[in-house]
Amino acid sequence: MEIITAKHAGFCSGVKKAIEIAEDTAKNGKTYVYGQLVHNERVIKDLEKKGIVFVENIEDIPDNAVTVLRAHGEPGVTYEKLEQKNILGDKLKDATCPLVKLVHNTVIKLKNNGYEVIIFGKKNHPESIGIGYHIKGKDTFIAENPDDASNAVDYINNNNLKKVAIISQTTMSVNGYKKLINNINNIFNNKFEQISLNLKDMSKPFVFVDTICNPTKQRQSDTEQIAKKADVMIVIGGKNSSNSKELVAKSKELGVETYFIQAAGQLKKEWFENKENVGVTAGASTPDITINEVVEGIRQVT
Ligand code: SF4
Repeated sequence: MEIITAKHAGFCSGVKKAIEIAEDTAKNGKTYVYGQLVHNERVIKDLEKKGIVFVENIEDIPDNAVTVLRAHGEPGVTYEKLEQKNILGDKLKDATCPLVKLVHNTVIKLKNNGYEVIIFGKKNHPESIGIGYHIKGKDTFIAENPDDASNAVDYINNNNLKKVAIISQTTMSVNGYKKLINNINNIFNNKFEQISLNLKDMSKPFVFVDTICNPTKQRQSDTEQIAKKADVMIVIGGKNSSNSKELVAKSKELGVETYFIQAAGQLKKEWFENKENVGVTAGASTPDITINEVVEGIRQVT
């Protein structure tokens, strides 16, 4: 039996950097992290052992505490609340991924040029909430899947919108985004046209911008390549990891038997019976050590 591991699997550059920032900061004393730094329980537990305190409510961060902000990006209101606690300057370590910041800047430019911006993303995901802050806050229209196309068109028509731009959360499915745009265009007379991320041409009234990050695209395309050869796919990732769930969906879409696990201990011998090729991939919040343990675990149970 052959085990094929995805070349692009596990930590992306944004997650690596966020962990590095949190670890370096914690070397100098007690450090708070607002929200899950990455959607991976093992990584969070390791960081807690290094003295990092994770809080879900901003109210739980004491005044003047050194605080790290996660890679997914935060709405401006988070910075305001932290400032009220005198957490700013050297006390605030912002680990927002530059590729998420790029999306924030993109929506700000689109909005300043008269576009109503619609997001393709998950309503409860911190990244979409952070991006939405620059648009209409909680009233921002978010399409969660390609089937939301008719709701998006109703929203445009009911509000008589004359200039609309669609962007995506960085970790969404590339195919899902294409389907959403196709579905919208099918109902909306093909009015939406793609413009480049540098936004050079903002003269068109209905546009969409590809804001899915490259690490996400690489993980999705590697998963697709491997799933085409595999009899069974193992996807490793945190239960709440949006990009890991997209890899599971991609693999299942191709009709391959797929299992979503967090650790090697969950592997079952029967998954590999009569199988020739096993594909292994992992979301952007999965450490290499977990991937290696899973590969080793597959060897042991087969
Ligand atoms: S998935 Fe993309 S945008 Fe998100 S942290 Fe990783 S590199 Fe940055």
